[in-house]
Amino acid sequence: MPSPVVRFAPSPTGRIHLGNARTALLNYLTAARLHGRFVLRFDDTDLARSTEAFAQSIEEDLLWLGAVPDAIYRQSQRLALYEAAAQKLKDAGLLYPAYETQGELDRRRKLQQSRGLPPIYDRAALKLTDADRAKLAAEGRAPHWRFKLAHEVVRWDDLVRGESHIDCASLSDPVLVREDGSFLYTLPSVVDDLDMGITHVIRGEDHVTNTAVQIQISHALAGRAPLYAHHNLLVDATGAGLSKRTGALSISSLREAGVEALAVAALAVLTGSSDEVHPVASLGELAEQFDLAHISRNAAKFDPAELRSLTARTLHMLEYDAVADRLAAMGVAGPQAEAFWRAVRGNLETFADVAVWRAVVQDDIAPVIEDAAFCRAAAALLPPEPWDETTWSAWTQSVKTQTGAKGRALFHPLRLALTGRETGPELAKLLPLIGAARVRKRLGA
Ligand code: GLU
Repeated sequence: MPSPVVRFAPSPTGRIHLGNARTALLNYLTAARLHGRFVLRFDDTDLARSTEAFAQSIEEDLLWLGAVPDAIYRQSQRLALYEAAAQKLKDAGLLYPAYETQGELDRRRKLQQSRGLPPIYDRAALKLTDADRAKLAAEGRAPHWRFKLAHEVVRWDDLVRGESHIDCASLSDPVLVREDGSFLYTLPSVVDDLDMGITHVIRGEDHVTNTAVQIQISHALAGRAPLYAHHNLLVDATGAGLSKRTGALSISSLREAGVEALAVAALAVLTGSSDEVHPVASLGELAEQFDLAHISRNAAKFDPAELRSLTARTLHMLEYDAVADRLAAMGVAGPQAEAFWRAVRGNLETFADVAVWRAVVQDDIAPVIEDAAFCRAAAALLPPEPWDETTWSAWTQSVKTQTGAKGRALFHPLRLALTGRETGPELAKLLPLIGAARVRKRLGA
């Protein structure tokens, strides 16, 4: 068994969205699980629509998701390989020139349909003689090139859909090379999958019909073909799919909205499978749990609103080590940083909320004083530092004894004074982080 290699092959013609992330992550996680390699391959042979800026944004988005590629390729730099493959197919008599214009093809298709025949290319070009071709060339007509499909049933064991087959007699011979010599998607994709030693092609089910064709081309070029897995596509509640063009649910817009990368990953990977969508603490954890065979054949319906709650639930379970760098970038570092994280993580909806609690423990905030006398009395009872998580209960016990306040009347004014807010993390954890000097000041002492 060759060592596993998978690829994510976006065309850099837009920003990637949640549905593209699903494909990318299923590939990345398969590589992680099988200890294989994950290749990012830009399908950028469509020079008119591909841009370097989109390629860069895709790299950034993958990095943010944690799906870091082991290698990056651009098809636009590999044209010589495709030329050589096309020549090999021509030499084998499997790639033939055809001269029909789009208008001619449309007319023939209509005729076939009116006679109740399937609209399949009739292979008229195969009947052309050398003299016919010479005449067409003399008229200035350049050919496009079609792959001559074997009219047989192609079968493969799809890692998601199971036993699959397509009767290639029901397909038109696909055009691989345009009149101007440029390549359509099909041939470069096969050539690269072979050249890069791709073992598993994991992609959306919109490519199922391509697979039969690609398996035939693969066999013609190399006598082998990779394994295939076609996952269902994400659709919203109305059943509509996602489009790169609209920018809806683009990874960058989710990132800007404060959605956690791991929440995106959990939703993108687990939706539409027999596994329930749940937050995960790392991609490694997700790699252990997901299974291509658990993916359903029905559409993967999802609710974007779930990203919000998944983000919060993800943050609540992350350990300090997983966020230390991001905390440092927000000015939370040093010996108390871990205790801070443990105190506040359960109250975060997005990571940006860290700033609120950082201000509470590090900055001058405006306390809310409901009862100034009570707060001053409480301040007078503060024990000397050092403080720890037991300080709060010892202190409030003595405030209760001295003032007679209890329950909400005891705790609510203290929370308002110390944090300026009605709700928040456990005060037992916050108190030592705020420290005696700030606590006294906020209590008005
Ligand atoms: N560029 C193609 C796409 O984004 C790649 C399909 C494939 O994985 O082969 O749909």
